[in-house]
Amino acid sequence: MQSSSGQAQRNCVSCGRSIAWDANVCQFCGHDYRIQMMPPVPQKEDSAMPVVGGVLILIGSLAYFLIGGLMAASGTALLGLTLGGSGVIVGCGILVLLLGVIALLGGIFAIQKKHFGMAIIGGVLVIPSILGLIGLILVAVSKDSFEG
Ligand SMILES: [Zn+2]
Repeated sequence: MQSSSGQAQRNCVSCGRSIAWDANVCQFCGHDYRIQMMPPVPQKEDSAMPVVGGVLILIGSLAYFLIGGLMAASGTALLGLTLGGSGVIVGCGILVLLLGVIALLGGIFAIQKKHFGMAIIGGVLVIPSILGLIGLILVAVSKDSFEG
């Protein structure tokens, strides 16, 4: 402290020697502090991520509509033949369709960056598809850009 002209000093993180507080480069070992000056803080420019995630969740929800629709349709076609089993197939088809609606809503909410919880539920529902899983991750990591 008393050795130099009263200038603030700090220890170099690389070599440990005392250097000027505002030095850009360590005069002893050449450690460059300017690189660390630039903070790698991601700004809110990642606003496209929940939108992309929402679209992927929407695509994933289409599978539910396809499967649910097929089940309901085939169950309805069998309705006249076997009363017991066909009703179960129709019921399952409607259930799958409902899951598709929830996933669809989740995808729409993700695109609008509203109702983070619903968007996550929609994303979880479409995990079986790879696109849906990616969509869920994209939505989950961009929680901060959601309104609520
Ligand atoms: Zn140094």
